[in-house]
This record gives sequence, C-alpha cells and structure tokens, in this order.
Amino acid sequence: MEELTHYINGQRVKGGSGRFADVYNPATGEVQAKVPLATIEEVNEAVAKAAEAQVGWARTNPQRRARVMMAFGRLINENMDMLAEAVSREHGKTLPDGRGDVQRGLEVIEVCMGAPSLLKGEFTNDGGPGIDLYSMRQPLGVVAGITPFNFPAMIPLWKMGPAISAGNAMILKPSERCPSTSILLAELLKEAGLPDGVLQVVNGDKLAVDAILDNETVQAVGFVGSTPIAQYIYGRAASNGKRAQCFGGAKNHMIVMPDADMDKAADALVGSSMGAAGERCMAISVAVPVGEKTADALVERLVPRIEALKVGPYTAGDDVDYGPLITKASQERVKRLIDSGVEQGATLLTDGRDFSLQGYENGFFVGPTYFDNVTPDMDIYKEEIFGPVLSQVRTNSYEEALKLTMDNEYGNGTSIFTADGDTARDFANRVNVGMVGINFPIPVPLSYHTFGGWKKSAFGDLNQYGPDAFRFYTKTKTVTARWFSGIKEGGEFAFKAME
Ligand code: NAD
Repeated sequence: MEELTHYINGQRVKGGSGRFADVYNPATGEVQAKVPLATIEEVNEAVAKAAEAQVGWARTNPQRRARVMMAFGRLINENMDMLAEAVSREHGKTLPDGRGDVQRGLEVIEVCMGAPSLLKGEFTNDGGPGIDLYSMRQPLGVVAGITPFNFPAMIPLWKMGPAISAGNAMILKPSERCPSTSILLAELLKEAGLPDGVLQVVNGDKLAVDAILDNETVQAVGFVGSTPIAQYIYGRAASNGKRAQCFGGAKNHMIVMPDADMDKAADALVGSSMGAAGERCMAISVAVPVGEKTADALVERLVPRIEALKVGPYTAGDDVDYGPLITKASQERVKRLIDSGVEQGATLLTDGRDFSLQGYENGFFVGPTYFDNVTPDMDIYKEEIFGPVLSQVRTNSYEEALKLTMDNEYGNGTSIFTADGDTARDFANRVNVGMVGINFPIPVPLSYHTFGGWKKSAFGDLNQYGPDAFRFYTKTKTVTARWFSGIKEGGEFAFKAME
C-alpha cells in the first residue's frame, strides 16, 4: 500500500502522527493509498518554517517572483498528462476532464506571471505643499489554502498562484481524498525556482485545519468546500483575527425561456448537470423551463441524451462521459436523495440508482438521473446533491423562474437560455447570484476576471483569482511624505541681515 507524505521545506516528509486516511480508487472501490493526517505540532512546525522562508521571498522583487511563475507554467504544460492522470486516479473524473482541471488552474498561473502589474501601488503627487502620498501592497506573511476534493489541481493552483506571487508563503491543506496532485505541483514549483518552505503542503483532516485556524502566525485563510464547513472556518478564522474568504456549496439554476434554442439548451443541460458526475460547484442541478411547452420540449430532448451517456472509469480514455463519485458514502447519500425524490412525489424520468458496470461492481458509480415536476419543498431541491442528478422545476413565467432562483439560499452560478437580449440583460442585472451565464451553462469566469458566489455560496470578502485575489493576499500601506523646501538652493554664505 502506497504511503503518501506531506511536502515540507522542499521535500516529501513522512507523517509522524500514526493517523492516516484511506485514498480510494473510486472506480473499483479499492483503497489505493493512505495519506498521513498531520498533528497540531506538525502544522505549527510547517508554519514556523514557512514564516522564515517568507522573509526572503517577500524581499525577492516581484518580477523575479513572476519568473518563477513563468517557469512553473511551462512545467505544468510539459507535465499536463502526468498531472491529469494524477487527478483522475484519485478523483475518478475522465482524463479530458482531468486535463481541464489542470488547464483552468494553469490559466490562473498565467495571470500570476504578470503579478507585478497587479501589485503596483498608487501615488498622489503634491497632495499638499511638498507632500506626496503613496500606497504599496505588501504581502501578508504566511497564509493558508484549504481545498476540496473535486478540483485537485485547479483550486490549489487558484490559491497558491496569487498568494505566492504576491510574496506570501502558503500552507496548503488539500483534500485528504485527493491529496497527491498538490504534492506534484509543489515539486514542480520547486523545480521552477521557488525557495524551500514558501509552499508547504500539509495533509490532514479537521485537526490540521483547526491547527491552521488557531495558529497566530497564519494571517489569512482561503477556503473552498461545502457550505457548513465554509461557514465554520470563516467564523473561527475571523474570530482569531485572520482575513478569511470561504467559498461554499451551490444549487445552480438554469432558466430556459420558450424562445431558446431547445437543442442547444438540452445539450448544455446534459453536460453541465452530469459532467464530472455532477461533482462541480458550478454544475447546473436545477432546470427551470418557463411554460409547459418548454418543459415538455426539454423532456423530449433530455431523456434520450441522458440515456445515451457513457459512465465508466477514467482508464477507458475518451470514451467515457463521466466517472464514479468520490466515496461510497457519497454514492449512498446520492441514492438516498433519489429515493426521497420519488417518495416526495417528483417524476423520475431516468433512474441511476441501479447502475452497474461489469468489472467495476464495487465502484462508486451512480447512473444519470433526471427528475421532472420537482417542487421547492422537496429534499432533492433543497440540498446540494453533488451527484449526476438533474431536477426540473416547471414554472409559468419568467418572473416566477427568476424568483425561484433568487429565493434559493445558494448563489454561486446561474444561467439563462433565451433568444431575447432584453430578457437576458434583465436577468443578469437583477439576479442575486455571483456568476451568470447567458446561453452559457457553466459560467466560470476566465482567470483575469474573478470567481465568487453570493449568499450561502461564499463567506467573507473578495473573490478568488484575478485582481481580487491580489487584494486578498496583500495589505495596503499608505505613506504620506513631506520634503521641506530650501535644501536644493544650497547653503547661504552671506550673513543675513534683519529686514
Ligand atoms: P468539504 O467541505 O468536505 O471539505 C473541504 C475541505 O475542508 C477539505 O480540505 C477537508 O479536509 C476540510 N474539512 C472537512 N470537514 C472539516 C471540518 N469538520 N473541519 C475542518 N475542516 C474540514 O468539501 P468537499 O466535499 O471536499 O468538496 C465539495 C464541496 O465543495 C461542495 O459543496 C462544492 O460545492 C464545494 N465547492 C465550492 C467551490 C466554490 O468555489 N464555491 C468550488 C469547488 C467546490
């Protein structure tokens, strides 16, 4: 059995706690490795070393730091297949999706290659007689990233890129279910020229997370994961005086207007609800057709598309649409939620509960599941399922569909499919959701914009990546400087007479 490690001071370090978590092959249900779970002391030691390394790194000029990001970007490209395979091996997503996971993280590193221009300060000349004001962005010191299982490359890269290129050291605590990719990325960063200790990967569970939250040296926490944990981490980090941004779960609605291109809407719904087995915080999990005819047109198109989906292990290559869920517990939870949908009166159009694949009977697969006539009081509507389950809520008008979306407690992403620019603009202006797609099902903004949800999908201030990330990982210092006049005229040699 492979024993994974931490990555401390530029090398792989065995765990010393004697506690481990199982890392599964989700396609077979077998345990493929064990990952060490750090003690409080191991976390504190990693933080102390990071604090030492950060001093020199912060003094390294921004352009030199950016060159490390350039080399890192090149190395990620060169190792794309190896990284994608590492993602898929532990997560179970298809290889093309694994590559997408690495690619969307790499794009943030590409922005970090230009970090100096984002770290520039402001200047006011002659704010008063002989007075100039300037502000500078300085790194915070040691910061932490705590990341979820569902994007083992992308989200660690979203955290480490801006934090490190801004001159901080980072403690990265990846998900214990998919820990290997973070170590591989840390090794590539070292090869790219990052000094030892500036990125410490500490594996662990709640004990390690709490140690990070209670460590006085850690100045900021960037978290991504489920809403209850996001809220908990935000509260504990903030009460310990840390800067915190904690991104949580989602229930993303896609409104389909009667004038939409129904085939395109159906294609978008299948890909965005079932892709990655629905384990995406930007997955569309609720279809909201406006009008009975629109709903019927979607059913007619979606059922055959969903029934044609190919589910299997990533090792089957490009011939698979999505893979297994992450754990047995998640598979059982998703099946229970499907049961509840049936019990609570939704119409089950495709049923993924009995899905089985020869040779992979113990894998954590759930087949694609599509419910019609879902109502907001049902558990399948209220809960983030995080599985390949699409719920359709029928509405009678645009206003009703908009209200449904706005009344939902989550506000990560949403989308509208329509041929009418006026409706699209109205939707984008009024909806209380952080990321909006217009004829676009998964509106993850490009890396030079910024990513963040509203309502219970995010706690704290500022978004991930883009300019917001550089604001989050730096603090502003403003200097007011006065230089008295007279010196440049030189010394006076004549004896000054009284006037
Ligand atoms: P999770 O909340 O279970 O775990 C996230 C991280 O928190 C992990 O590193 C984990 O070790 C740690 N953690 C778990 N329980 C903890 C506890 N009790 N105390 C302290 N730390 C704890 O989330 P997950 O299952 O890994 O990821 C899926 C969730 O993440 C979904 O809800 C999804 O919507 C969300 N997500 C959100 C975004 C976003 O940007 N909004 C992006 C990706 C995923």
